Amino acid sequence: MDDSKITLTIGKQKNIALIAHDGKKADIIAWCEEHKEELKHHFLCGTGTTARMITDRTGLPVRGYNSGPLGGDQQIGAKVVEGKIDLIIFFSDPLCAQPHDPDVKALLRIAQVYDIPIANNKATADFIITSDFMRKEYNHDVINFKKNIADRATTL
Ligand code: PGA
Repeated sequence: MDDSKITLTIGKQKNIALIAHDGKKADIIAWCEEHKEELKHHFLCGTGTTARMITDRTGLPVRGYNSGPLGGDQQIGAKVVEGKIDLIIFFSDPLCAQPHDPDVKALLRIAQVYDIPIANNKATADFIITSDFMRKEYNHDVINFKKNIADRATTL
């Protein structure tokens, strides 16, 4: 592999971010209940209201960031950049306009840049959570951000 990419390893225990728009909160709580036994093996975090509601209704410990419209999605995006989030379950609502739509798009984009699995509906979330990779390490190649800066700083 050329040095424009580096290989990073997602560990056996995953750092999972959970986010749901208001119209999908009941769905993500039901999904967490359904997959509770698997989720117990991992570290969970989420946007403020979603995290609180999942913990209250399922008993799973979920570290809460700010509420999504108040910057919670951006906090989660920053953790992806820092390599501290391995997987995102994001039950977004395709039928309802969101005040923080740019933040939602930014999170989808940054997950793509860092090759982080991201589910935005239940079927995708079901496929991911039942994947063999949930209990295994996974190596993936991502942009070598140090080299990227070095190259840009010397060629621009
Ligand atoms: P919330 O944010 O969990 O605080 O409601 C979710 C979102 O709308 O991004």
